[in-house]
Order: sequence, then C-alpha cells, then structure tokens
Amino acid sequence: MPIYDALKQSDPAIHAAVAGEMQRQREGVELIPSENYISAAVMETMGSVFNNKYSEGYPGRRYYGGQTYADQVESLAIERATRLFGAGHANVQPHAGAPANVAVYFALLQPGDTVLGMDLSHGGHLTHGHPVTYITRIFNFVRYKMKDATTGAIDYDEMRAVAKREKPKMILAGFSAYPRELDYAKMKSIAEEVGAYAVADMAHIAGLIAGKAARNPFDDNFDVMVTTTHKSLRGPRGGLILCRDADLGKRIDKSVFPGFQGGPIMQMVAAKAVAFGEALRPEFADYARQIVINAKRLAARFLDGGATLITGGTDNHLLLIDCVQSWGISGGEAEELFDRIGITLNKNVIADDPRKPMDPSGIRLGTPAVTTRGMGEVEMDALADFMLAAVAKRGDAAAVEALHREVKAFCMKYPLPG
Ligand SMILES: *Cc1c(COP(=O)(O)O)cnc(C)c1O
Repeated sequence: MPIYDALKQSDPAIHAAVAGEMQRQREGVELIPSENYISAAVMETMGSVFNNKYSEGYPGRRYYGGQTYADQVESLAIERATRLFGAGHANVQPHAGAPANVAVYFALLQPGDTVLGMDLSHGGHLTHGHPVTYITRIFNFVRYKMKDATTGAIDYDEMRAVAKREKPKMILAGFSAYPRELDYAKMKSIAEEVGAYAVADMAHIAGLIAGKAARNPFDDNFDVMVTTTHKSLRGPRGGLILCRDADLGKRIDKSVFPGFQGGPIMQMVAAKAVAFGEALRPEFADYARQIVINAKRLAARFLDGGATLITGGTDNHLLLIDCVQSWGISGGEAEELFDRIGITLNKNVIADDPRKPMDPSGIRLGTPAVTTRGMGEVEMDALADFMLAAVAKRGDAAAVEALHREVKAFCMKYPLPG
C-alpha cells in the first residue's frame, strides 16, 4: 500500500482520512455497480506531473507551448479509445460523464430540440433530462419505458409511436439501473425513421462493451457513444465521447472545447490512456465476461432465496431487488442493514415506484468491483448468503454484528489491486 509520506507530514487530517478510506475499501464489499478499483499504474499516472500542465486545444493545435508530452499522451489515449470501441473518432477530454453528455447535447442539438430517453424510474440517468438538472431548461426530454418490469422488455412500439409524435432529434440509449440489453438495431431504425441521432450513454457498461461481454452500439450503426471511464471500464474518473464519423467528431471536439470546458485535466487524460491500454489486453475480456457471470450467479442465488428481481434477472453487471416485495423492508432500510455487515450498495427506485426517491422500494447492486478483487461464482453465493442471513436476522443486533465480522474476514482474502 502507498505510504503517502509527504501528505502525512503536510496534512495529517487529510492523510488520516485517506488511510481510513483505504481501510474501509479493504475491509468492506463494494457492490455499488458504478464503482471499481483502479490499477496501481492508473493511480500513479493520476498523481503525475501532468497535473501541472495547461493544454487547451487538441494534439498539434494547442494554445500554449510545452506540449510535446501532453500531445503524446492525448494522442495515445485517442488512438487506444478508438481501437477499443471500434470508433472513428474519440474525445478524451470530458471531465466526467455528466459534462460529456452536455457536450454531446450541444454538439448535436439546437435549444428547444427534443431528446427521447429512458424513463428515470425505469433505469434512465439524471443527465438524461431529470427535471432537477439545468439541461431541461434548454432541451425538451420525453420518455420511453419498459412494457413489463417482470421481464424488462422495452416497449419498442410505444417508442416508435412517441418518436413519431414528438419528433426527437436524438434517441438516447443508456441507463444506470437497467439489467437487460437494449435492442440497439431497433432503436437505430426508429431514429432513422424520424431523422434523429442515435446516441448511447454506456457509462455503466463501457467495460463490458470493451471486453465484448455486451453488444457494441456501433455494430448497429449508432452515431455517438458517451461514457464515463471510471465505472466498469476501470479507469480514472472522467468522460469519453466516441463517434464513427469525422464530421460529427469535429462538432463534438468544438463542443467540448472551447464550447463547454476549459483546459483538459491532463493527468486524467494520461491515466485514461493507461486504462484503455489495460482494457485492450486479453485479460480484460476475461474480466468483463466474469463480471456478467458473477452478476447472473448473484441473481440466481437471490432468486433461490425468494427475492424478487426487477426484470427477473440480469444480462449485464447489475441487479435490482424489490426489497418491499422480497422482504417487507424499504430500499433505504436494506441499504442500511447491509452497511451494518460491511456490504455497500445503494437504494434505488424501481419502475413507477410508489415510494419516495429518498426511500424507494429497491436496491441496486453490481459486480464490477468484486470481480476486480478476484471473486468468482463461489464468492457470489457467499455474498448473497451473507445478505439473506442479515435480512433473516435483522432484529438480532448480536447476530448482525457477528455477520459483520464474518464479512470482514472474508474480504481480507481478496486484496485490492495496487
Ligand atoms: C454515471 C453516469 C453518468 C454520469 O457520470 P459522472 O461521471 O458521475 O458525471 C452519466 N450517464 C450514465 C448513464 C451514468 O451511469
């Protein structure tokens, strides 16, 4: 483990917090599906001297001098990203997923234009037009949904009808809480019918796509893909925009800078290059495949234990459990209970949730982080069993505390990378 001597000398309070967080990550099970553990190489690059460099512009076209090495890392990041996802163009500068989405909206749309995206309680993301976000003051967002939450089937007929009525300029595929594959070919054909761009926000599943454990929307001729780099892709925190067409690429570059952002966070761009390099290796495909195998195994164990899963299972890295239906407790109560045994996940709304967003009916859990730690199917059974035992014994504080000790001992067998 890194020692962080300089930090310890300079700022004991922050050093103590870093050490505490490291211990928390080591001793607990991370089932939040958007989280992961980066490699030591990615971590080193994030703390590198590229932090000190201003590189407004793009490789070969910068506003300041001294760009020899900045150009090298950004060019490598771009080249690796395009290879990884089969893209014609990549912009590696977005600071995170949310700004990457905003940059894409402004690159492709005019104010007042309509975007057709997934309903938020059916798995869509805040940045796809939740009323609390400012982007809804500029663009108009309309929704598609599942027709059946027990299978997760999307109502593509309704999607087509809504698209014909609302005339969106963009159809958005992508989610943060949907355990099934989308039919990209069908979505692309609807987009073509109404003259809309087909855009995939694959923030959650980018690692699965990179490792060929999930379908690549470019194979169905999607125009643009947006993603975070820090979820299943296992890179530094950041965003990435890919497209197939060079003309569209120019508009996206202009939108990211100077349209929306200032200087790129160069140490993160360098760390993205390292992470993309890791994801290009054959081991990463094994990792991506194991994420899905683990999620399916976890789902099967919960189903055997009598739990109700939204959509009945999973095709990707995440599952949603209806806690009210399964155990007679809210998602918030379940999150808190599992926290007490050292298993971290998050409460989540379920489709058309009758409960409030701050204490919804469900929980969401996923396998990218535990798979990085080297856990497989046997460990998934153990995790589900810990959680089912916690539910059964939730009234017995001593029993819950004993489970916490067991989980801690279990975790110590799976060291963090780095
Ligand atoms: C996580 C996520 C985002 C936002 O990413 P940030 O890096 O947190 O800004 C956007 N879209 C989807 C689908 C996500 O899951």
